[in-house]
Amino acid sequence: MNQISRQIINWYKANARDLPWRKTSNPYFIWLSEVILQQTRVAQGLAYYQRFIEKFPTVQDLADAEEDQVLEIWQGLGYYSRARNLHKTARQLVKDFQGKFPEKYLDLLRLKGIGPYTAAAISSFAFHENEAVVDGNVIRVLARLFLIEDEISQPKVQKQFREIAYDLLPIGHSYEFNQGIMELGAMVCTPQNPDCTHCPVFEFCQARKVGAMETLPNKKRPKEKRKRFLNYLLLESEGEILLTKRGPKDIWEGLYEPILSEGDRSFSSLNEFKDRFAQIPVNWLESQIFPPLRHILTHQELWVVVCKAKLSKKAEIQGFIWVKKENLDSVPKPVIISKILQSDQNGQLTLGF
Ligand code: SF4
Repeated sequence: MNQISRQIINWYKANARDLPWRKTSNPYFIWLSEVILQQTRVAQGLAYYQRFIEKFPTVQDLADAEEDQVLEIWQGLGYYSRARNLHKTARQLVKDFQGKFPEKYLDLLRLKGIGPYTAAAISSFAFHENEAVVDGNVIRVLARLFLIEDEISQPKVQKQFREIAYDLLPIGHSYEFNQGIMELGAMVCTPQNPDCTHCPVFEFCQARKVGAMETLPNKKRPKEKRKRFLNYLLLESEGEILLTKRGPKDIWEGLYEPILSEGDRSFSSLNEFKDRFAQIPVNWLESQIFPPLRHILTHQELWVVVCKAKLSKKAEIQGFIWVKKENLDSVPKPVIISKILQSDQNGQLTLGF
């Protein structure tokens, strides 16, 4: 075995964090953990992992669930298309594979929603196949160890990382090596301030020798975030809130929100809400408007204004549903909407949360 690989494995055995998905060879649990951890850090991911396996203990349970139930558990992780794909993949597994995960990397790749990283993770962690995982943590370690200075999103550079990872992968020890190099990236070779003095491959690291640890990996500068202005009319009547399900091809597909007017700026007065929603018989005398809230997503900056108002009598509005306040938790919603509704439930819409 290569010296670098040996030292990473030995370090991992002595330093691995005790995480529930490392104590199982159930490919379904491993898959869930990988999808969740692509979305969030371990500390937050643990709670989501537990909730998922409690609510849907088997692939069959996940496949049988309604999409809304899956989105509700996923709520708060963002990138809701990942939750929908998780659900679709579970259904495909039940339909085409009798609910069993294929063991081989190439067979796993046939599943919708499972890409090279996840296929390598499942096949090596659950079935001990000799497949190398290459995620952001692994790329960071390899870029620094081997002083790879090219911009990392280029296909030829991605290929180079995969080749190095497979070169380092010791046959028969894929589990420990893959876990080890990912753990090294998460705990020691961190994006900022890598802890080089406690690194098991310190002596081999070329970036450290030339002081380039902090400048690698070389990533494209992120594009400027798109600004959006969301003006919500939060309507209440007889203890119920009016919500609608968001459509496809935009953020928050399939999640629920109040009546929305999106424009090129935030509404700053009640009159703007009155004009925009003149067709709805709102009791504007009891309404209240709140200053804009800023909410940041990966590629977007949202400015959200809420106007809270009442309808004296519940009216049916096409495409909307009335939800009892006590049932709001069972409706999947974007985080910002949950916070608004939660804050409203507490008796007052507070701002700047
Ligand atoms: Fe990362 Fe430092 Fe280890 Fe190099 S020596 S791999 S930069 S932690």
